[in-house]
Amino acid sequence: MVGNQEGIGVLKLECPESHPVGRILKEAPHQAVLYDPGAMVGPRRFWPDEDEQPTFKTHCRFCDKTVGEATATLQSQLVNVIADAAVVTGTAPLQYL
Ligand SMILES: [Zn+2]
Repeated sequence: MVGNQEGIGVLKLECPESHPVGRILKEAPHQAVLYDPGAMVGPRRFWPDEDEQPTFKTHCRFCDKTVGEATATLQSQLVNVIADAAVVTGTAPLQYL
């Protein structure tokens, strides 16, 4: 597999209004994927959680609405970022649920 030598990637999650609603991180090649909801919201944790299949949901505190996307879609987007040696950070739009 051709990929980023460092095997890392960050997927920034945004609500439909482009508000930040967290990040999905792989900061080291052999590290588990983490979800960082933002320092103001809560601690980082492993992602996805069992109850985040098949749909990942979170809350946009700016819109005060629930937003989400298919977990498999976000996972494949993160894989694409990790696999692209020229890109470390991607952005994934979430939808109102
Ligand atoms: Zn929003």
